Amino acid sequence: MATVTEPRLKTRRALQTKLLIDGQWRDSVSGKTFATVNPATEEVIAEVAEGDAADIDLAVKAARRAFDDQRGAWRKMDARDRGHLMSRLADLIEENKDELAELESLDNGKPINESRTADLPLVIDCFRYYAGWADKIHGQTIPIRGNYFCYTWREPVGVAGQIIPWNFPMLMVAWKWGPALAMGCTVVLKPAEQTPLTALRMGELALEAGYPPGVINIVPGFGPTAGAALVAHPEVEKIAFTGSTEVGHVIMKDAAATLKRITFELGGKSPNIVFADADMEAAVHGSLFGLYFNQGQCCCAGSRLFVQDKAHDEVVEKLAAIVKARKLGNPFDPATEQGPQVDKTQFDRIMSYIEKGKSEGARLVAGGERHGDKGYFIKPTIFDNVKDEMAIAREEIFGPVLSVLRFSDIDEVVERGHMTEYGLAAAVWTRDIAKAHAIARRLHAGTVWVNCYDVFDAGAPFGGYKRSGIGRELGERGLDAYTEVKTVTVSLD
Ligand code: ADP
Repeated sequence: MATVTEPRLKTRRALQTKLLIDGQWRDSVSGKTFATVNPATEEVIAEVAEGDAADIDLAVKAARRAFDDQRGAWRKMDARDRGHLMSRLADLIEENKDELAELESLDNGKPINESRTADLPLVIDCFRYYAGWADKIHGQTIPIRGNYFCYTWREPVGVAGQIIPWNFPMLMVAWKWGPALAMGCTVVLKPAEQTPLTALRMGELALEAGYPPGVINIVPGFGPTAGAALVAHPEVEKIAFTGSTEVGHVIMKDAAATLKRITFELGGKSPNIVFADADMEAAVHGSLFGLYFNQGQCCCAGSRLFVQDKAHDEVVEKLAAIVKARKLGNPFDPATEQGPQVDKTQFDRIMSYIEKGKSEGARLVAGGERHGDKGYFIKPTIFDNVKDEMAIAREEIFGPVLSVLRFSDIDEVVERGHMTEYGLAAAVWTRDIAKAHAIARRLHAGTVWVNCYDVFDAGAPFGGYKRSGIGRELGERGLDAYTEVKTVTVSLD
């Protein structure tokens, strides 16, 4: 355990920094640790136990035992009680929400206001939503030819390996644990190396809620070691991964050796389309939110803003005025609207895209440089006159950099909207409701928002077309990823 050094933190407590395996907090087998850093100050927050293949093996074996043991607490538990346990975890998260929000802002850098009002409520909602599903998962009776009684059973897939990113550390835990636990799987979670602290705190709360040993295991560590070992482990049936498309390729290849079930939520370059007949105030504010929320570190960020000719100048002017007044700084100041990027790697990557935008001839309207000289802050940046073929219009930047593109008509913007390997999300702003629905139907995207952006709900499926992913999370569809369907056919002769 380390103690919190962040002086602005209101909730002071010892931080959990060990691995959770089989209901016990332990050091890594190698004894190694790694530093997690506060991105606002570049100071080390704590040293965290660094799991690798040996720890993953212990965690998977514990999860396997908990899953297979027919007389064990998890297998004997009625579905309704499983749901109750999830509600209990949601209640404990709610009771500790201030502390969790602070911990999230400390480790990730997101403004405290957002941790409190966006991340935490979505986390709690997700657990409550899936708690409700636990005793409502059932099969079908199927009228087949002949004198048979045929029915299906929905069974948990087994041990689920879950690998998550750093942009929404706690919310990604909820998206992963929610459907897996509701189905009756056991899990081994590998949090992102940049942000392991809130997942570990949620592990403590899960033990307090009464999850039996081995049902929830958490192994912080690095991707090519801990993550790859989880993907390769023969006793893991399923990998759920959220992260970059590059790593998605690697995991898919690695998972092929053991033919694991996989669900992926990967990158995006989402088109956000503003028509001249839109409510312009709403479109401008919604578009800003759709890109700059979470420092631009959202896979579904509306990073290609298509504005119809007639509205173009007005929109760009309004966007620039608001962005220039945006308050950057200390994530613990409730007035802060934008915090730092999560780490130096991301900071450098984003800055290199800003340089590319400048050298490719896009017009820099706002930002375009670092903010301050400490912490990984980047001024909110807008490029206008962006062309479809520029790197800033094609590649995922994952930062506060907006590319504005002009368009004239519907067919043109739909076609250009599709000029990407991704297909995670899209948005349309118009007062013409028929046009909105028609475009929503045509866009190649797993989610289409109309006159809004980034509206998430535990009940609404989320996931990508094309190279943005495989499968869906959230909603009833989210359970499919953790389900095997068994068909039972009984002769009635
Ligand atoms: P980002 O680029 O946003 O940091 P990544 O895709 O690199 O996202 O990482 C997301 C998660 O995937 C992290 O938990 C990371 O440790 C993990 N990861 C990275 N490389 C691998 C790999 N080769 N195998 C398994 N997991 C990995």
